[in-house]
Amino acid sequence: MSFEDKGPEKIIVQVAIDSPLNKLFDYAWNEEFATAPQKGQIVQVSFGRQECIGIVMQVLDKTEYDLEKIKKVQAIAPLPPISSDVVAMAEFAAIYYQRPIGEVLIPSIPKLWRQKNKWELLGKEKKSSSSKKAKAAREEKEVNAIKLNNDQSIIVEKLWNQSISKKFSCNLLQGITGSGKTLTYLHWLKKVLDDDEAQVMIMVPEINLTPQLEASVEQAFPGKKLVVMHSGITDRTRADNWEKAHLGKAQIILGTRMAVATSAPNLKAIVVDEEHDLSYKQQEGVRYSARDLAVWRGKKLNIPVVLASATPSLETWFHAQEKRYETLSLKARAAKNAQPPVIQILDLKQEQKAGKKNEHGISEYLLNELQKNLDQGLQSIIYINRRGYSPVLNCEACGWLSDCVKCSAHMVLHKITEHKKNLCCHHCGVMKPVPKACPDCGNTDLSPLGRGTQKIEELLSEIFPKANILRVDADTTRKKGSAENLFSEIHEGNADIIVGTQMIAKGHDYKAVSLVGVIDADASLFSQDFRASERLFAQLMQVAGRAGRSEEARESKVIIQTRYPEAIPYKYLKNADVDGFLEELKNERSMVGLPPFSYQALVHGEHKTLMQAIDMLKDASQLAKSDKIWPSNVMLSDVIPRAMMRIAGKERAQMLVESEGRQDLQKSIEILQHYLTEAHTKRKGVGWYIERDPISI
Ligand code: ADP
Ligand code: ZN
Ligand code: ZN
Repeated sequence: MSFEDKGPEKIIVQVAIDSPLNKLFDYAWNEEFATAPQKGQIVQVSFGRQECIGIVMQVLDKTEYDLEKIKKVQAIAPLPPISSDVVAMAEFAAIYYQRPIGEVLIPSIPKLWRQKNKWELLGKEKKSSSSKKAKAAREEKEVNAIKLNNDQSIIVEKLWNQSISKKFSCNLLQGITGSGKTLTYLHWLKKVLDDDEAQVMIMVPEINLTPQLEASVEQAFPGKKLVVMHSGITDRTRADNWEKAHLGKAQIILGTRMAVATSAPNLKAIVVDEEHDLSYKQQEGVRYSARDLAVWRGKKLNIPVVLASATPSLETWFHAQEKRYETLSLKARAAKNAQPPVIQILDLKQEQKAGKKNEHGISEYLLNELQKNLDQGLQSIIYINRRGYSPVLNCEACGWLSDCVKCSAHMVLHKITEHKKNLCCHHCGVMKPVPKACPDCGNTDLSPLGRGTQKIEELLSEIFPKANILRVDADTTRKKGSAENLFSEIHEGNADIIVGTQMIAKGHDYKAVSLVGVIDADASLFSQDFRASERLFAQLMQVAGRAGRSEEARESKVIIQTRYPEAIPYKYLKNADVDGFLEELKNERSMVGLPPFSYQALVHGEHKTLMQAIDMLKDASQLAKSDKIWPSNVMLSDVIPRAMMRIAGKERAQMLVESEGRQDLQKSIEILQHYLTEAHTKRKGVGWYIERDPISI
């Protein structure tokens, strides 16, 4: 029987496809399929001249298109439909972030599952490799062997009661590093996983953190299947891991922000660790916040969500203050004898007055402390959040600076070998040899200004020639597995001094570090970005948290060098007063009506010439503001160049949309979307997008 003969019995499905068109596409269900269509099913269809996969979003019995011309669905993936909460979350995100549904949903399916010719292959079992985990596990304590303290037990009990009541609740699990947050949520998850069917999700900010956590989680849950989801695994592993989660065969899903959209039919708990971390925000395509989506998903599923942090984001902390979230606090360090470090704010101006030396940015005082630590065989961290040798090369004769021609940024000096340096732009990736002479005046005496991790490493190895110095930054950890190796070197005590960027600050449980020195943190005090001080505070608290985790009741010190000891973040850092700092921040933001007291979206425009980008946003803005339905309490700022105006040859403009009402903001960006599309037809070359809840302005 041909398809046409079926006439009115035809079933039409509307399919989401990864295309820039913001709509669903109609196809006829193939009468040869044995089963009826279901929402969330992965199908293969022909689209234009190509074939691609789509996801069934609607099942209808009619279509507004010509039935004769409508194409048939070609094949169904040998899988159950995507779990309905993930489909619903994508529908929500498409509207919230103003992106086509297909662009939101399809990338949540691993690449290999997006290719029909791989479907058969994927079905076959593959042996898993887990050799390298053993190494990370070596240092770990048996999670189950540790008895929870009273505060921890109370929290586990509270969370478990939430689980039993099968209602949504969002919890802020707050406590300084080492206070036992991880152990606490693992114990809760253990109870949840007593139900053989149950699945749980743990999200972490960085893939570098997963091996360590992976090891402790696997130990904590013998007999349970854990899968990881992050960008560091092969396509095949990702496809297999996703499949196990999707089929309910994996009970624990551990991953970075991408994990949030993993289909899991029986999800019962979600943990977002280090919830304040910026890496939860996707910075391209659909610019979603994985933390926010995790909360949304938990609400949809009526399950508890835990957001854990030593330094919560102001948004989360404020929700907790307003009792929309429950606060679960851990006050003291959990491990026996572990003492929080003493934090010293070292005033460099005073030091200078007192005639103390400060060579290459490291004060005499800090050097002395380093020496003392070395003498005792203890580990130290020197934290400088800038990689490379030196942030810029300078000609003192004429003032030339090593600027990138394609970006409004300096090219950074990098040491490639002992005798060779390069200039490298951290924004567009361009790399050049260092010029022999100043391109402007011919002066051959060019000097590096400022310092990065490489320079500090070099300097420290001159001062402490016997010390083992290890550098941890994006350059030394680029190769697969190299971060793991560096971290286990540290754990095994093979490093006396660790020089590193924020990579060393996150979540690593170093037992022997008893001194942390912070140099050059002041720059972010003067950032235009209203979130800069929040970030600085969180970073420094984190790096400070690396000290004093030993069980031998050793005293430990954190020394923060600054020229501005009276600056607000330092004031609260001294006493590690997180709540005090957030309270002050809250009052500041409340006074000027910034988030969380208002909601924001940022409209971006990009073009070779700035004027084109600006004009396009202006056109859209004028049309939007004069629309009758434009909500009166939404503010639309002037169009201005971005703080970093040019990246990789593209000039960038922005326009801020702001409102006290979430709904009004939503409405306004839908209106803007409409007029931006219209304005774009006149200026086709201009790239644009709307970013919801921007994290840097
Ligand atoms: P956080 O996640 O807050 O940084 P962790 O859960 O990683 O803290 O715990 C920090 C350290 O303290 C770990 O080495 C952990 O094994 C240990 N620890 C946690 N809870 C206890 C406890 N109740 N008794 C003894 N040690 C504990
Ligand atoms: Zn010059
Ligand atoms: Zn560049």
